[in-house]
Amino acid sequence: PLVLGIETSCDETGVGIVRGYSLLADAVASSVDQHARFGGVVPEVASRAHLEAMVPTVHRALDDAGVTLSDVDAIAVTAGPGLAGALLVGVAAAKAYALALDKPLYGVNHLAAHVAVDTLEHGPLPEPAIAMLVSGGHSSLLLVDDLTGDVQPLGATIDDAAGEAFDKVARVLGLPFPGGPPIDKAAREGDPAAIGFPRGLTGPRDLAEHRFDFSFSGLKTAVARWVETRQRAGEPVPVADVAASFQEAVADVLTAKAIDACRKHGVDTLLIGGGVAANSRLRALAADRCDAARIRLRVPRPKLCTDNGAMVAALGSRLVAAGVTPSPLDLPADSSLPVTEVVMAAHEVG
Ligand code: ATP
Ligand code: MG
Ligand code: FE
Repeated sequence: PLVLGIETSCDETGVGIVRGYSLLADAVASSVDQHARFGGVVPEVASRAHLEAMVPTVHRALDDAGVTLSDVDAIAVTAGPGLAGALLVGVAAAKAYALALDKPLYGVNHLAAHVAVDTLEHGPLPEPAIAMLVSGGHSSLLLVDDLTGDVQPLGATIDDAAGEAFDKVARVLGLPFPGGPPIDKAAREGDPAAIGFPRGLTGPRDLAEHRFDFSFSGLKTAVARWVETRQRAGEPVPVADVAASFQEAVADVLTAKAIDACRKHGVDTLLIGGGVAANSRLRALAADRCDAARIRLRVPRPKLCTDNGAMVAALGSRLVAAGVTPSPLDLPADSSLPVTEVVMAAHEVG
């Protein structure tokens, strides 16, 4: 079956088309440039941009895949979590297409879709697997027993998301938004051991209790203080060393906790997704540590790690294959949809 997936949870309008495990199209229109001067995504600006980009992006995806709307067998859309107004645009569009084409509609969980996208590159996901999702809005560890219906949260950030920390640290260093790519680049020229930045929630007690929550706000503040101290003393800021040392702290904590989660739950597959999974140091350190721990590591290519429609279509494709009941046509958008709800089921009315 041919599945069309729509993603509008944040600042990317994504439309993907998938048949089975094959990716036929992945059209993305991003409003990221419109948010750059604010240093973060502005919800109203994002919603408006989705509205303008929705139909052209659907047509671009259909063209890229060489199919027409009448070839589509099912529609999948991100129903949450995400920005409420932004989600609504995608959900409304998906309902319209499902109704007009008389095809089933799946309102899916954005985090589960970040996991599902990997199947387009590496095939069926061995289950159980541990998934670590790190982006501008999330930092979560998940136990995936069944991608189409049994996903349990093990931990999440208690303050800033990992990508948010990259964005804020970039700002402190005078680098552009979004901060991940320029920090990644600057870090290549720096020494990751130059400055010992703090590793949040990795104290003896956190480790002994297998605590899978993350904290990045202390790290962000530590970097800002360090840079300020330098500036006040009238000394130059070694941007490359700060970037490399900050990045090392993030990659160290993320990989250590992900591998600990695999060990604790007796799981030998680790999947990393979300925009921060594009980070070169995180990828390299995860590869080294997984090798040492005999864990299979799966990380999709960077374009599939950031928000896109292909991930939603990929999850839709798995749901269709598993015979999961579609969502009702009056499904709501839920900005705080829990990850345990992989697909939005019929809900109580009133
Ligand atoms: P959501 O959190 O809802 O998924 P989002 O738009 O924040 O939304 P993504 O598009 O998946 O999520 O990821 C964007 C984030 O990823 C930004 O914070 C960005 O700085 C970060 N990022 C992108 N590339 C890199 C990189 N090479 N290294 C580190 N972080 C990166
Ligand atoms: Mg984004
Ligand atoms: Fe995302």
